[in-house]
Amino acid sequence: MRVFIATDLEGVGGVLLDEQVNGSSAAYERARRLLTQEVNAATEGALAGAATEGALAGGATEVLVDDGHASGFNLIYEELHPAARYAMGKARPEWLSGLSGECDAAFFIGCHAMAGTQGAVRDHTMSSVAWHNFWMNGRPTGEIGLWAAIAGDYGVPCVLVSGCEKACQEAAALIPDIETVVTKRGLSRYAAFLEPVETVRRAIREAAAAALGKAKAIAPLHVETPVELRLAYNLTGQADEVPITPGRERLDARTIAYRAENVIEALRLI
Ligand SMILES: [Zn+2]
Repeated sequence: MRVFIATDLEGVGGVLLDEQVNGSSAAYERARRLLTQEVNAATEGALAGAATEGALAGGATEVLVDDGHASGFNLIYEELHPAARYAMGKARPEWLSGLSGECDAAFFIGCHAMAGTQGAVRDHTMSSVAWHNFWMNGRPTGEIGLWAAIAGDYGVPCVLVSGCEKACQEAAALIPDIETVVTKRGLSRYAAFLEPVETVRRAIREAAAAALGKAKAIAPLHVETPVELRLAYNLTGQADEVPITPGRERLDARTIAYRAENVIEALRLI
């Protein structure tokens, strides 16, 4: 069983503040370590599924991890679990490098809720600077939904999401039966009640193993085709810069519709 793990930084336990998610500060260096340990916990859980006698779906025999936040270089290389492989660095040809129809299940670790979610820690969708609101076939969607839809295009179910309470609620509303791990409960965008670090790692380990046990029972997220992605930019000037070519339509001063045969193709237009 091949497991794909997409990662972000904003939903990791203990991560709240700007200096923790932007490079070159001592706080960021500590946040990288927190992320790395959560990813290692997910990897351990995925592999442990294999050793569990009688596990229906078996555990992971192969784990691929995508380092997704900002520069794509957040995981601490020398501290990574030796049984996984990693996609790191930026300017990659596709979203979610390594995800393909060969994967059997996807985990999303360190997730945040979509832009405009009250009480969510560091809510945003893709870019706080440029993306104001985003819809997939008319449904408000954040990164969890977008990633799950990409996985769905490949026929891969998303079976585990970790992140703040609101991110977990967003995932559960989209994918019934998904395993979720709450790392913190937002008091505001930049404040939260935090779960203890060892509690979070243990919960991720256990949820990863449990998620693989029911991976075959969770359907890949299905998005009706053809697909329309609608993106309202923060500024009219950002929409002005989008060239209007086939598949792109300007709907109003700030909003562009991107239309294609599936989610992966539509994203290539953004
Ligand atoms: Zn991020």
